[in-house]
Amino acid sequence: MEILKLGGSVVTKKDLPKTPNTEAIKRLASEVALAGPRRLVIVHGGGSYGHPLAKEYDIAAGYSSPRQLAGFSMTHQTMVELNGIVVEALLDAGIPAVSIAPSSFIVTEDRRIVDADFSIVSRALDSNMVPVLYGDAVLDSARKFTILSGDQLAARLATELGATRVIFGVDVDGVFTANPKLVKEAKLIEELSLSKMRGMVRIGEALSTDVTGGMLGKINEAGAAAEVGIEVQLVNALKPGVVNAALRGDKVPCTWLRR
Ligand code: ADP
Repeated sequence: MEILKLGGSVVTKKDLPKTPNTEAIKRLASEVALAGPRRLVIVHGGGSYGHPLAKEYDIAAGYSSPRQLAGFSMTHQTMVELNGIVVEALLDAGIPAVSIAPSSFIVTEDRRIVDADFSIVSRALDSNMVPVLYGDAVLDSARKFTILSGDQLAARLATELGATRVIFGVDVDGVFTANPKLVKEAKLIEELSLSKMRGMVRIGEALSTDVTGGMLGKINEAGAAAEVGIEVQLVNALKPGVVNAALRGDKVPCTWLRR
C-alpha cells in the first residue's frame, strides 16, 4: 500500500485566494490512472483553500472565542470543496476515488492524532477504493479544535496501515540545502538521513529559511514514517510525468528520507 500526499502548493495556487490548480489536479489524476490500479491512499493539503481561513480564525491554536466556531466550520467546508474538485478529477480519470473526511473519524490531543478509526480507510482499500483525505479542521481533546496537517495525516496513515512508501508531492524537486525559491545555488539533497540531519545545524538552518517552516515541518512529520522503515520520497508534483514515474518505481529527481 502506498500513500500519495499532494501538497497545497500543488493542488492550489498558493498566492491566489481559493484558487485550485485545476490543470495540475487533472494531470495528476491521469498520471495516477496511467500508473495502473494499486492500493493507494491520496492525501491533499489546503493551500489557498484551508490556510487563509485557518489563519484568520486562529483555528490551529484552538478555542479562545465563540467567533472561531464559524471559522472552524468554514475552514472544514472550504476543504470539503477542494476535496470535491480533487475527487471529481480522479473519478473523471477512471479512478474509484472516495472522499473520507478526516474530521469525522480523527480526534487530536494538542494537535497530534490520538483517536482515530483507521479501519475506515483500510476497509475502503480492501474494497479496491482509492480513499482521498485532506488536511482538515478537527476536534482536539485539549484545545477543542485544531488543524490537522495533511503531512501528519499522511505519515500516520502510512504507519497505521503499513504502507511501503509515502510520496510527498510538492512544488520543488525535494529537500535542498536551502530554500530553492530563495537561494539560487541551493542543491538538491538526494538522500537525507534523519540521524545525520539532527547533527547538522547547517542544513537545519537552511531548511528553516521558509518563514512558514513548511519544509522543516514536513520532514519532521515524514520522519515518523521513515523511522519505521517506510520509504519516504519527496518529489516535484508540478513537473509533468514525475508522479507517474515515481509511482511506477522509476528514477526521478527527488529526496529520499532515511532514518
Ligand atoms: P505543501 O505543498 O505541502 O504546502 P510547503 O509549501 O509547506 O508544501 O513546503 C514546500 C516549500 O518549502 C517549497 O515550495 C519551498 O519554497 C520551501 N522550502 C523551504 N526550505 C526548503 C528547502 N531547504 N528545500 C526545499 N524546499 C524548501
